[in-house]
Amino acid sequence: MDFLPVFLNIKNQACLVVGGGEVATRKAMLLLQAGAHVSIVSPELDAVLNEYLACGKIQHRAEYFQPGHLESIVLVIAATDDRVTNRQVSAAAQQRQIPVNVVDDPELCTFIMPSIVDRSPLLIAISSGGQSPVLARLLRAQLETMIPAAYARLAAMAGNFRNQVKQHFTHPEKRRIFWEKALQGRFAAMVLAGKDRAAQDYLLQSLQQEKDEPPQGEVYLVGAGPGNPDLLTFRAMRLMQQADVVVYDRLVSPAILDMVRRDATRIYAGKERNRHTLAQESINQLLVRLAQEGQRVLRLKGGDPFIFGRGGEEIETLAAHRIPFQVVPGITAASGVAAYAGIPLTHRDYAQSCIFVTGHLKNNSIDLDWPHLARPNQTIVIYMGLLGLPVLCQQLIAHGLPDSTPAAIIQQGTTQKQRIVTGTLHTLPGLAEDAHLTPPTLIIVGEVVKLHENLAWFEPVLDAENAPANILALDPETKQPLE
Ligand code: SAH
Repeated sequence: MDFLPVFLNIKNQACLVVGGGEVATRKAMLLLQAGAHVSIVSPELDAVLNEYLACGKIQHRAEYFQPGHLESIVLVIAATDDRVTNRQVSAAAQQRQIPVNVVDDPELCTFIMPSIVDRSPLLIAISSGGQSPVLARLLRAQLETMIPAAYARLAAMAGNFRNQVKQHFTHPEKRRIFWEKALQGRFAAMVLAGKDRAAQDYLLQSLQQEKDEPPQGEVYLVGAGPGNPDLLTFRAMRLMQQADVVVYDRLVSPAILDMVRRDATRIYAGKERNRHTLAQESINQLLVRLAQEGQRVLRLKGGDPFIFGRGGEEIETLAAHRIPFQVVPGITAASGVAAYAGIPLTHRDYAQSCIFVTGHLKNNSIDLDWPHLARPNQTIVIYMGLLGLPVLCQQLIAHGLPDSTPAAIIQQGTTQKQRIVTGTLHTLPGLAEDAHLTPPTLIIVGEVVKLHENLAWFEPVLDAENAPANILALDPETKQPLE
């Protein structure tokens, strides 16, 4: 982040605009809207500013800028077309530690002006940090169309009831839940439909019905998909905004974690081979304890929680403790990664069935039903198989699959670090070793792998050379690789 977004209260404060043309006018209007006392320093004023002057809205000094003009000023904007003057303003302001903005000259600014979506009291400010004002404006145009004008009234009305609701609930959690319900439910619908009076009555009624007792905790077991935030479900997104605490796995990418409600407490429960941060039993108990404290707990897992995710065990413990929970499916690695690798898992000509297995290596062997796997016209997807790859390929060949059977291993599929190595059961272990892949990786075996050559479509854009070692295994706090 290059700038800290803040909203300044400049009501009744003296602000200065240097310049008297069209741009200066726009800036002066904005300052006036925020309730400031505005002075203009400029030998001349354009027509609009002259009108403002005539009706006493602004003050004017028909002079060239000099540092003395900054006396008692809390904020200054330079909007002249003369770079020398703009520089002077910037230097003088910075010397006095007065925030200064120079229009279209980020280097001379100590603050920049965002694009604004104004639904006062609701305000959305967008900035590209001076890199692309046009992009910020385009985004603003999109938001303008998405956010009904009535949100202004909705925000103001919520403001009117804020104290009353605050007094009603001693538990802040309960208060937040009440507002979330109101602002996503009938109250909001009524305000948006212009029925303000009915909306007020309804809000008061719902408030009276709410008891001020400790909130009941709940657990959301949510699949976060294979890594790319675009692949989250709407439901996952919604619950991510509601949670008080998030307990997340190693496979949950930092980009996804960033989308969880900012105030939610983050607890890392990651599991890595040989490095169990929290044992499964402790995770189960942790979820129970957090929910019993009345928190809304987001249990965020990579992929789908019910596919090699031990999600079942976690909710069994919750059920035993009578803690309410809900489960949100995620895109499992097999479907996400296959899609982004251009490998259809089934195909009329090549595979009529598809089987998901774990290739976890134990004492140098893998316990799988090999005859069942080594069948023609079937795609095999192997999770957690990188270390066991040579054993897997050997066993499949030993149980009857031709050693020319196409096979692929995909690293960090769906993300900007996706890499695909293709070969056959015979060649893949060697090719994978040469490629120095980093987990997580997924293995796909079967004739469908041949289709990749024609169907590959996804091109990671990140400069892999300069990217961190493993984008999915960054410490969310330091953004450094975990190992
Ligand atoms: N519940 C998860 C799987 C957890 S097991 C799901 O449904 O996807 C962890 C294994 O998933 C990893 O060892 C790897 O084999 C696979 N995996 C998860 N995300 C992946 C990704 N982005 N690319 C490749 N493999 C992935």
